[in-house]
Amino acid sequence: MIFYCSFKWIILAFLLIISQIKFKKNIEKKNINQIIFAKEINHYQKKKNVNKQKKIVILIDPGHGGQDPGSIGHKGLKEKEITLKIAIKLKELLDSNKFFQAVLTRNNDSYLSLKKRKNFLKNREVSLLLSIHVDSAQQSYVSGTSIWIVSNNRIHREINSFINNKEENIYFSKNIENTFKSNQNDIYLKKTILDLQCHCFQSIGTDLSKYIFQEFKKIVKVKKIQPNYASLGILSSINTPSILIETGFITNFEEERKLKTISYQKKVANAIYISLKNYFQNKYISNFKNID
Ligand SMILES: [Zn+2]
Repeated sequence: MIFYCSFKWIILAFLLIISQIKFKKNIEKKNINQIIFAKEINHYQKKKNVNKQKKIVILIDPGHGGQDPGSIGHKGLKEKEITLKIAIKLKELLDSNKFFQAVLTRNNDSYLSLKKRKNFLKNREVSLLLSIHVDSAQQSYVSGTSIWIVSNNRIHREINSFINNKEENIYFSKNIENTFKSNQNDIYLKKTILDLQCHCFQSIGTDLSKYIFQEFKKIVKVKKIQPNYASLGILSSINTPSILIETGFITNFEEERKLKTISYQKKVANAIYISLKNYFQNKYISNFKNID
């Protein structure tokens, strides 16, 4: 049994490598991300006409909403208001670029359960989830932006839950879905594929964080120039790379004042937009010659 599963695993790894070779002759370690975005990239390669290219769909999740205000500043500013404003601005910027399409989990002051937010990832071809938040602390002197990625423990728990059929109807890429269909009872294979994929998602999050910090450093204080890892529900999807951005501390007097201004909200949204543009341009440069 062990040998049988190992053999399947080797075949899978081999197929993944072959598909990468076909896609691009020079394999580099960083190109592992292309497995995840393979569908989009193949599409770009086939279609010469840029107007007909499939867009990269970014799901933007403005934190909190409705009866859940999130953190509240000393002057009464509510996190849910700022996350929505930044998210709407970011959507406008992404939608103005022909390579992107942005989707919001909420576009007004409504309450959304975690389940409803994650439902967007089940039914849509989302390439990336960005959850927008504002931080808070007991001490008002604490300030700065930060980024969060899902922890290993949480993601393994989510994978096990899916394998044990507690979670159903999750959308995966065609390659993975076909492999699952033809190996329905092989939980070892399923687990291996999902482990590999989620590891890629975490790498994407780490890579993208570098681009975001690079842009944030130009306009805001960065609390720590490395992402943090945590067991956060919104980041725990096993079919989509996900990151959470804390756009400042609402409990810091100076940052609360800035977060309230339209100019600061625009700056933050623009910094995230430029980061996404640079990230995709650098990762898949041949397909994004005209990304501006
Ligand atoms: Zn929050």
